[in-house]
Amino acid sequence: MSRIALDVPYSEKDQAKRLGARWDKFGKTWYIPDGISPRGFEKWLAPGSLTDGYEIVCDSYVVMRSRAPCLACGTVSEVCGFMLPPMHKTISTMRGPKGRRFPELIEEPDFPALLLFITRLEPSVAKRMGQICAHYQMVRSDADEAAYFANHCERCGQRQSDFCLFEESGSAFDPTDVEAAEKVRFRHIREPFACDGATSYYLQENLLWSKFYVEHL
Ligand SMILES: [Zn+2]
Repeated sequence: MSRIALDVPYSEKDQAKRLGARWDKFGKTWYIPDGISPRGFEKWLAPGSLTDGYEIVCDSYVVMRSRAPCLACGTVSEVCGFMLPPMHKTISTMRGPKGRRFPELIEEPDFPALLLFITRLEPSVAKRMGQICAHYQMVRSDADEAAYFANHCERCGQRQSDFCLFEESGSAFDPTDVEAAEKVRFRHIREPFACDGATSYYLQENLLWSKFYVEHL
């Protein structure tokens, strides 16, 4: 599991230790052990450790592409999505003084995740995704629903439900046979990834998918 590195000056080491920080003698760094809230450690957090308030971060990502029938007009259209390799970070945050957000719990699952209902995407990732799949865009379809990135039909422009594409058995990104799995193309992009959104870990249970994933990365 994860821990949060701290930048503690020598003169403040006892103070950090009293709060629960531990010393990594191999890495020669102070850190907040797993399970301890970073509350009180704010002044020693490295700038990157706040991850700009993003909920999900990773040092690389995978773009998946496939084809699926439009939910509205039935036209088979290109669809795409994100998969994150194992050891990506999911960060629960809390509000600190002055509305600043602090990471409270960081987890690093040792299996890949699919991402859906992405409400905020690191601009460099959004730009690259736009180049790969022009129909993957941020939209707000109606007033009482949060805006999120989604696929759109190439022909009629209808938004395609993330739920249907990623979480329905037999869908484009939840294949149940080899033929369906082989339609998916993977592209591993070795650039930083960050977003707010939801993670799906069904890959763990879908053995066909897991095998395919390992063979293609
Ligand atoms: Zn359509």
